[in-house]
Amino acid sequence: MIVMKFGGSSVADAGCMRQVAGLVLAARARQPLVVLSAMGKTTDALFAAARAAARGESAPAGAPAFGVIDSVFSRAETAARELGALSPALAREFVAGRQELDVLLRGVALLRELTPRTQDAIVAHGERLATAVFAAFLAAEGADCECVDARRVLRTDDRFGQAQPQRAAIAGLAAEHFRKHLSRGAVVVTQGYVGSTADGFTTTLGRGGSDWSAALFGEALAADEVQIWTDVEGVLTADPRVVPAARPIPSMTFAEAAELAAFGAKVLHPKTIQPAVDAGIPVTVRHTMRPAGAFTTITAKGTPNGTGVTALASRGPVTMLTMSSTRMLDQSGYLARLFAVFGELEVSVDLVATAEVAVSCTVEPDAPVAKLVERLRDVVRVEAATDRAIVAVVGEGLRRTARIAERVFAALGDIAPEMISMGGNEIDLSFVVPHAVANEAVRRLHAAFFTAPQP
Ligand code: ADP
Ligand code: ASP
Ligand code: MG
Repeated sequence: MIVMKFGGSSVADAGCMRQVAGLVLAARARQPLVVLSAMGKTTDALFAAARAAARGESAPAGAPAFGVIDSVFSRAETAARELGALSPALAREFVAGRQELDVLLRGVALLRELTPRTQDAIVAHGERLATAVFAAFLAAEGADCECVDARRVLRTDDRFGQAQPQRAAIAGLAAEHFRKHLSRGAVVVTQGYVGSTADGFTTTLGRGGSDWSAALFGEALAADEVQIWTDVEGVLTADPRVVPAARPIPSMTFAEAAELAAFGAKVLHPKTIQPAVDAGIPVTVRHTMRPAGAFTTITAKGTPNGTGVTALASRGPVTMLTMSSTRMLDQSGYLARLFAVFGELEVSVDLVATAEVAVSCTVEPDAPVAKLVERLRDVVRVEAATDRAIVAVVGEGLRRTARIAERVFAALGDIAPEMISMGGNEIDLSFVVPHAVANEAVRRLHAAFFTAPQP
């Protein structure tokens, strides 16, 4: 069987859903499990509604929170009507969903308090609406189709908003709730991003989490392939919004894809890859509107490409911390003491580079830097540089190719990296630059490694 995951832009309206249905029905012989994101920017809208309610905007008609909800529902209803799928059952689902959201938002507005748990219950409606419309459409087309609530399968812990999946439980639940319909030959439709705790509270996996859901379901069902359908022809050599000339990468390794995702290539959720890697399932990334076009296949081995560099990514803003002390010389346990403080404050560290008397690292821009500085003051001198970005040059070929670093720094020209790190797995060379010049750095590198004649 296969998993086919369609992102928000792939299910944005009736026309998109029709295209998706065509792809799904054409793959029917492969027993597709269809995983959907919310339609278009619905998730953003639901977050905005939740925040508006938390500000106390509770008047029903015309208030921003409820106006946003109106547009979310009218978008789904319009699509359903255009698809000829607005059955009485679907209309009842809309009414029930709408009532539930009204109650949730009123509760938030009344208390002026938005807990992560309530927020998850609110935003999960996006995926629930999309699957309801799509499943109704498949049924109206006469297809044997089963819409299974992902909350029955995607068991997570209770870290609302960032829930951690429980993979052993998911395997059992997927067998129980998906398998029987798939073996019957039905197309199974379910939500990405959304899960639930053992005691039935709705959770979400974090923004962009539908890809992760797809990989988790693929692992649970030992799928032959996990297909990520989106609005680009696979993973490209750089973010196409930064480098319009970026081109599709036919094949890459799991490790490369994971590095790219972690360093900002939005095309895949950073954690997507792990379940697929563990289960040895190939992941493909494809363009919903151009199914016959180029696509990327991600597997354990990949196929090496000629230039040594597979792709570029950048992520910012981040904050760079430089911690220095002469006491660091010849001291054992020094780094352990430093990073223990990061651990205690639950600050996750991305890049690290060390010199004899200084350590630099990057942290997210919302990290509690003041607290870190306060706690580290007795041990080291700390300088924080905000508005930095990480630029990553990724490729399995890096370790086999001489003079990569020379070419990278030549291409950067007058953009001087402030900190450099070559990952232990030798497949990425990352460095920090001011956030304002990160895109320019990526463009220069792309020109050197992908556009210019290669040495
Ligand atoms: P979906 O809604 O289908 O999940 P996303 O918006 O999450 O889609 O991811 C697709 C987008 O990722 C593309 O439209 C593109 O702008 C962006 N992107 C960033 N880096 C890359 C890259 N290296 N290759 C392809 N797309 C990228
Ligand atoms: N709809 C969710 C989001 O916008 C999940 C996803 O699309 O992957 O973050
Ligand atoms: Mg996405």
